[in-house]
Amino acid sequence: MTDRVAIYPGSFDPPTNGHLDIVQRAAQLFDRVVVAVGTNLAKKTFFSDDDRIALMREACADLPNVEVRGFDTLTVELARKVGARFVIRGIRALSDFEFEFEMANMNRRLAPEIEMVFLMTSPEYLFLSASRVKELAAFGAPVDDMVPPGVARRLRAGGRKRGLRTGATDPTD
Ligand code: ADP
Repeated sequence: MTDRVAIYPGSFDPPTNGHLDIVQRAAQLFDRVVVAVGTNLAKKTFFSDDDRIALMREACADLPNVEVRGFDTLTVELARKVGARFVIRGIRALSDFEFEFEMANMNRRLAPEIEMVFLMTSPEYLFLSASRVKELAAFGAPVDDMVPPGVARRLRAGGRKRGLRTGATDPTD
């Protein structure tokens, strides 16, 4: 029997525990999961391509059937390239549903042989998003329970380096 391979594409800017939860659950469902970090994104990312790949790789290091790679093509093209018949996406709220539904229909038109698989977020990650994490970190708020340890370290270091607000020293503030 051939292996069941799935890809999990996203921007992962940065990876959060919500993403990780989806990866771990997908790793139980499929023989091999390729986490695909988008490197040619319309939206500008906070972390570089290499950083997002490295942070995700570190977070997935203990999952033997998971590999992390970058990609700069259409999702369905990558799926075909790595021999995946499944594309995983996570769903949090109704707003995610609408976007994903539209995307799934587009992908189906492009590649009818590829099945989209939607995993519902675990309730503790319902309100967790990469943008919220960046916002909190920029204000110096702790995010350790929202992201993998390597990401928390990077956000702390990045905050200091970029001179982001960590304790309001600017008198004009
Ligand atoms: P994209 O820019 O492609 O939406 P993201 O990195 O924002 O990439 O998200 C990648 C995938 O992970 C998406 O399917 C998104 O819905 C899902 N996701 C994001 N945050 C969570 C979360 N807290 N719980 C479950 N799934 C999530």
